Amino acid sequence: MAKRALIHVDYTNDFVAEDGKLTCGEPGQVIEDQVIAITKQFVASGDFIVFAIDKHEKTDNYHPEAKLFPPHNIEGTKGRQLYGQLHTLYKQIEEKSHVYYMNKTRYSAFAGTDLEIKLRERRIEELHIIGVCTDICVLHTAVDAYNKGFNIVIHKDAVASFNQPGHEWALAHFTSTLGAKVI
Ligand code: ZN
Repeated sequence: MAKRALIHVDYTNDFVAEDGKLTCGEPGQVIEDQVIAITKQFVASGDFIVFAIDKHEKTDNYHPEAKLFPPHNIEGTKGRQLYGQLHTLYKQIEEKSHVYYMNKTRYSAFAGTDLEIKLRERRIEELHIIGVCTDICVLHTAVDAYNKGFNIVIHKDAVASFNQPGHEWALAHFTSTLGAKVI
């Protein structure tokens, strides 16, 4: 069986909580139990778990998102903390050697990070991607994973977006164009 990893994308207060700066709202909140259940499966199996979490600085005029979105996931803020039960679960598992928390600054978890090297050195071939938003950061991470030759699994009950048509379009795109398994 191919070695696998779980890639967590941006399940933070700013993207999920009611008062989040760029929240998915209810669609993001209703996937919480599934996000937790999948994470616990990977904790139990000992497979590699990556938390790839958007990080912005308070003032960064060069960042392309500055023109598109209000400030969000600012370093050191509550908005950047993992949402709900995931924050608690993360605190319990953060010391484990197969849990890796990394900052990302672009939609894709691969852009300007050491994610690929971490996956390659472990001979990981299959990426299970969960989190938000389906049609932005999950999508861009999946596109990069596809281009790098990884097999992709998307857990449809553990991804969400503020944009329902975008969410549905992305789910179809994962299978039709990225050869992903959507389960
Ligand atoms: Zn961002």
